[in-house]
Amino acid sequence: MKITLDEHSRAFAQKISDMIGQNIDGCYQCGKCTAGCPIAYTMEFSPHEVIRLVQLGGEEEALTSHTIWLCASCETCTSRCPKNIDVAAVMDALRILAFGQGRTEAEKEITLFHKLFLKVIERFGRVNDLHLMGRYNLLTLNPLKDWRLGRKLLAKGKLKLTTPPVKGLREFQEIFRRVRANQSEEQ
Ligand code: SF4
Ligand code: SF4
Repeated sequence: MKITLDEHSRAFAQKISDMIGQNIDGCYQCGKCTAGCPIAYTMEFSPHEVIRLVQLGGEEEALTSHTIWLCASCETCTSRCPKNIDVAAVMDALRILAFGQGRTEAEKEITLFHKLFLKVIERFGRVNDLHLMGRYNLLTLNPLKDWRLGRKLLAKGKLKLTTPPVKGLREFQEIFRRVRANQSEEQ
């Protein structure tokens, strides 16, 4: 069956294609991207469904979905696609659009989470789960939210109280400093 899109739907699909520099019409919904996605089970639209939404101009559904914020940008989907469709880039593009339009209602605290994530990375040079989740839960006024899980992970040695130093931390922190300086100049 041939599907005819209205002008708005076509424009949305085209915008995403322009942003990622690729036409995603070739996706034939094989589902290999979803089969490899480590967190597809948490998503209301799995990766291949997101691609279908974009093909059909489902702007509202795509931009207000939890899926785009849950995606961890691991690029497994992209590497598995037999049609070389950059699924991870589509997720990026959707996040950029949603953030630009202030449409983060699906994950209200997502901006805070990303800011804290970057602070932790700048400070330690790598992720420190305890530090990140502790601060996030405190600032969202839910300090005990993950304590049961945290206790289990600590007992199994999956959560570390300390973060081993990384090589070249100063140089790494210098990148953050330069990015901030460039941003100030641009403003
Ligand atoms: S793996 Fe590629 S072709 Fe298959 S559903 Fe995903 S995006 Fe479409
Ligand atoms: S990049 Fe996102 S959608 Fe793709 S496999 Fe990783 S988490 Fe899933």
